[in-house]
Amino acid sequence: MPTNFPTRISFAEAGEILERVAAASQLGIEKIALSQCLGRVLAIDVISTLALPGFDNSAMDGFALRSADAVAGGVALLIVGEQFAGASLDLHVDAGQCVRITTGAPLPTGADAVVMKEDTVLEGDRIVVGKPIRPGQHVRRAGEDVSPGDKVLSRGQVLSPAALSLAASIGLPELDVHRRPTVAVFTSGDELKPPGQALQPGEIHDSNRVLLQTLLRADGYEPVAWPVLPDDPARIAAALTDAAFSFDVVITCGGVSAGEKDFLPAMLARLGEVYFWKVRMRPGMPVLVGRLGSAHLVCLPGNPVSVFATYLTLARRFLDRLQARATPRTRLVASLSSPLEKTHDRLEFLRGSLACNASGQLQVAPNPADGSHRLRAVADSNCLIVLPEGAARWEIGSLLEVLPMSQL
Ligand code: AMP
Ligand code: MG
Repeated sequence: MPTNFPTRISFAEAGEILERVAAASQLGIEKIALSQCLGRVLAIDVISTLALPGFDNSAMDGFALRSADAVAGGVALLIVGEQFAGASLDLHVDAGQCVRITTGAPLPTGADAVVMKEDTVLEGDRIVVGKPIRPGQHVRRAGEDVSPGDKVLSRGQVLSPAALSLAASIGLPELDVHRRPTVAVFTSGDELKPPGQALQPGEIHDSNRVLLQTLLRADGYEPVAWPVLPDDPARIAAALTDAAFSFDVVITCGGVSAGEKDFLPAMLARLGEVYFWKVRMRPGMPVLVGRLGSAHLVCLPGNPVSVFATYLTLARRFLDRLQARATPRTRLVASLSSPLEKTHDRLEFLRGSLACNASGQLQVAPNPADGSHRLRAVADSNCLIVLPEGAARWEIGSLLEVLPMSQL
């Protein structure tokens, strides 16, 4: 087969190629309601036209007053009105007076502080203020959080519940976000049986299907799983070409290494374009990425641990960048709780358990069950430990980069 494409490249080179392809394949922008925006990537900078708070208001339920009237405790003030949260009554407080007020209600003119209800004693139409009151006490000043003209959200930012409520508080009902790629998922192999069906000798249950579906769902995509691909080149080509017509990204697993039944690399080289094949990483070395028709084809290896590692480190990054996501994925540094040795040259993503020790330090324990078929080690872990390229030994306490498995 022709090999006029990058092969056996470094993990860094693979990342650069994916970034470049994604930057040239942006999916467009759509305007959607705030409640549908969670996890979406903002397509524009958001500038506030409003101040937050929009007006001086009370931070407590109590009485608005002039702090100069209550420099010492024990003063009595006449209640001249009530201002609740809602329409402003344009009340005014003169010396010796106060206005009953609730949290969020506009501060009457003349008042510069609020005394909490709990710090007063009601005596007829007056209150006695127990403690001295400072100017500005329990008052939220107009614009102290946001001023008109402030950039409150940035292009490329992933929208969190807090970001969305900020958008709502400056009056926006919807936001411009990047369209999410549509994703088709395929597993492949004559040995696969769905869970729930009895296995014949030599068969295994298809575990990658639900792995990929749920990894994608956890990242906010709505993957469509297609029937399992048999190890038959003509049927693989037909199904993938079909999917490539209707999806932005087609993700497969299996059939990408050097076995007799690994048809994908040659098929893609013949029918489409290979961006790269084989990355010097472990697990996941045979990963293949390219274009078929109008879709990007991301072919992950078949071993479940490889699917996991290549999805989290390469496929996810590609999907992120197709939406122009600028918010980085969380990377942490943790101290190793048992020694490690790596005898090969490739970048390695090892399974591990990350936790905070008693002194508040992040510690990571490598899972001893190595091997890209050992899915249980993934299920028992909560992070991938990044072991840089080159053979090396790390002692207890060495600091290593870790990628938490679950993150926004
Ligand atoms: P392949 O790359 O197709 O040679 O597959 C590599 C290994 O992963 C083989 O042991 C396959 O049986 C296994 N494998 C491939 N696809 C799946 C799948 N969907 N679920 C579980 N294991 C799989
Ligand atoms: Mg196979």
